[in-house]
Amino acid sequence: MNSSYITSAAQAEQLPELEGLPEVAFIGRSNCGKSTLLNALVGHNGLARASKLAGRTQMVNFFKLDAGAEKRLVLADLPGYGFAATSHEIRDHWQGLMAAYVIRPQVREFLFLADTRRAGDLDDEDRDLMMYLARLRPLCVVLTKVDKATQRDIGLAQKSITEFLNKAKIRASKIQAVSSQTGKGIDALRAQIYQHWG
Ligand code: GDP
Repeated sequence: MNSSYITSAAQAEQLPELEGLPEVAFIGRSNCGKSTLLNALVGHNGLARASKLAGRTQMVNFFKLDAGAEKRLVLADLPGYGFAATSHEIRDHWQGLMAAYVIRPQVREFLFLADTRRAGDLDDEDRDLMMYLARLRPLCVVLTKVDKATQRDIGLAQKSITEFLNKAKIRASKIQAVSSQTGKGIDALRAQIYQHWG
């Protein structure tokens, strides 16, 4: 399988067509481990990191996975959120870009990432975003950095998220715990994503 960085979009008008290839989108709070996970998934160290270092954190970054005919997929790395300490300008820009992104017809699934150690205590920003996304497409919840979490953290995270999903009547396709460091859960998550080959 080949993986490559395609392009980044900072504005709605720059969102690329990409032949309408099926797309799986990654979203999570800043520092939740999104870039590291993208690298671990595609087995290509530095792929997502490179785009981040280029100052593209408030952009949608697109990567292509290509395993031959009928086996092509786009991964979209959506800009991180968590705006307690940022300006209205940044928040407005994020909202505008997200609103334009989420209506792309080729999007098949949202992967909602949360650091396992704080996923037991989601705040309104996390909850609102999950509800917003789940109204549009299937949602898969990914608990990240599970190597750093205790069994208690993992149990709390799973319980709290399941309760929230049930209450909000969101049908998540999966709650998957992963570690980009140890590789735990990475194959299972890859299988989840590969369902969307097209
Ligand atoms: P992003 O802002 O969501 O893209 O987060 P990064 O991928 O840059 O990760 C933030 C920090 O968490 C970095 O210091 C990573 O090395 C660390 N990190 C990411 N994934 C893991 C993981 O699975 N295990 C551990 N222990 N650390 C991780």
